Amino acid sequence: MTKIRVLDPDTVNQIAAGEVVERPASVVKELLENAIDADSTSILIDVSSDMAAITKIRVTDNGEGMTPEEAVLAFHPHATSKIRDIADLSAVRTLGFRGEALASIAAVAEVTLVTRPRGGGALAGTRLVVRGGEIVEKSEVGAPEGTTIAVERLFYNTPARRKFLKSRNTELAHVYAVVESLALAHGEVAFRVVHNGKERMATQRSGGALNTIAGLYGADLARSLVPVEGRLPFLAIRGYISRPSESRGNPSQISVSINGRSIASRQIAAAVREGYGTLLPKDRYPVAFLDLAIDTGLVDVNVHPPKREIRLSREREITGAIAAAVDEALAGHDLARETPVEPVQQQIIAADPGQVPTPSPVGEPGAPYTAGHRGLTLSDKQLRRTETEGGENLLPAMEPIGQVAATYIVAEGADGTLYLVDQHAAHERVLYDQVTEQRDKAAGSQELITPVVLSLPPKESAALRDAIPLLADEGFVVDEFGRDTFAVRAVPAALGAVEDPGTVRETIADLLADESRTAPDRRERVTCIVACRGAVKAGALLTPDQQKRLIMQLARTKTPWTCPHGRPTVVAFDRRRLDGMFRRG
Ligand code: ADP
Ligand code: MG
Repeated sequence: MTKIRVLDPDTVNQIAAGEVVERPASVVKELLENAIDADSTSILIDVSSDMAAITKIRVTDNGEGMTPEEAVLAFHPHATSKIRDIADLSAVRTLGFRGEALASIAAVAEVTLVTRPRGGGALAGTRLVVRGGEIVEKSEVGAPEGTTIAVERLFYNTPARRKFLKSRNTELAHVYAVVESLALAHGEVAFRVVHNGKERMATQRSGGALNTIAGLYGADLARSLVPVEGRLPFLAIRGYISRPSESRGNPSQISVSINGRSIASRQIAAAVREGYGTLLPKDRYPVAFLDLAIDTGLVDVNVHPPKREIRLSREREITGAIAAAVDEALAGHDLARETPVEPVQQQIIAADPGQVPTPSPVGEPGAPYTAGHRGLTLSDKQLRRTETEGGENLLPAMEPIGQVAATYIVAEGADGTLYLVDQHAAHERVLYDQVTEQRDKAAGSQELITPVVLSLPPKESAALRDAIPLLADEGFVVDEFGRDTFAVRAVPAALGAVEDPGTVRETIADLLADESRTAPDRRERVTCIVACRGAVKAGALLTPDQQKRLIMQLARTKTPWTCPHGRPTVVAFDRRRLDGMFRRG
């Protein structure tokens, strides 16, 4: 039975490649890391695709370049210029060190390299074509200083891997996400992404982190961020976090880099969230961009081939410091105040490298009152939307007395029962029932008087583009006009004439963030999200009349006692129970 064989090198390389190169975005990540390690200041990522898939990735840098000998060596498995032995690893400052990436990519694709070393020594450059790990062409060519690597026919010889690729737009979204995270960690480099000849993303060289953020996500978001800072003897924290009003349904917008390496860490994301405490509802997450400088001795980067995960010593102290820094930043900032639009935008553009534009807050003294007033009108609109005629009352009669914490309606029943109604859960139930009913009647969409315009960062806009047909199934009419800009022209009828663009935006963002893929699940999710977003909020002040209308609407639903998530909408304390609590009778 001794059938043990030593695998031939080609097979070994293909297996090893599988760990590093999972999808087109992995190629982009490795090529960008190499370009950054080569001390480039400007990197162009040029992606081509046909309708179905990404067909070519080309990364051009103005870095150190390679001599002809180095170029050949670069494709050998475990050939690296970055470390000599394991001892070097504890102090490694470069993003690469395993010497695996180029060999892995070349094992499963066709790679063309053109490179010329910096500094005028060599007059000509080197051109190599490597296919399936074999160098099939080597020549001298005229070339600028720096390196261009083009990768085509990815996974041509590993059909199993190719089968697992997602739609073109999903793969593109992953590519954009990779560029975003590296751009955030490397403000010293200008990045430009072009897809089929169209520029999709561009960051300036070193205008400071805020400039990069503005380049990637728009000046609006950048302007609303709050700076964070903190330090321990072995750690420096710098970055920006969102105000509590700008939250997300999942933690994917918490970007963290450690010593220039963009990493995924649930512990750090949790620490950031912890810093917000109760400023955010339980299931919401902030947007955050954190840059950590940690003594390299405390960071083990050699955990997993794509290097997205790391091991940290003294993690407790580090996450504690992050939570404290976030908490402090929020406490020191006047969150209620809006920052003015125009002047700050100019500041962002004009900011000196490394300088943080500090918006001078201009607040109106009457702001809180105005906000409250606006709240009432919004609740009114939301309630009017769900008004119906007649129908059976499935709740006992009750008369509202008032509100507690602007969240629970207190009501009294005819028989002296005390009721507490969760206003959000209650209205969610009302909306949910209506959306379901109209959905089943195929009532379709309702046109918006003014289309809501969404201007999205490339990653999200690729996701939205993908989701347009799916959204159409649910009654959203969305079309793309211009680069990364979309118009929402109609919404599900049940959402009614939503005039609040924020609600439309949030509903769509929630839908995009949602992973469920099977149609019935998705339907259900859409209905839930629409119901949740359209419902009167917890924390909204309601007039006595609004309280009454809400209870009335709830009473006419088929299952008034729970919200669509199964949580109670109404709790009751009957007379006997109240008496019992006070030891009467
Ligand atoms: P690693 O980055 O782990 O060293 P790679 O396989 O990614 O391994 O690259 C192998 C070597 O090729 C690098 O160590 C570097 O010397 C060289 N190299 C790769 N890409 C570039 C580039 N864009 N510019 C200059 N040198 C490069
Ligand atoms: Mg590398």
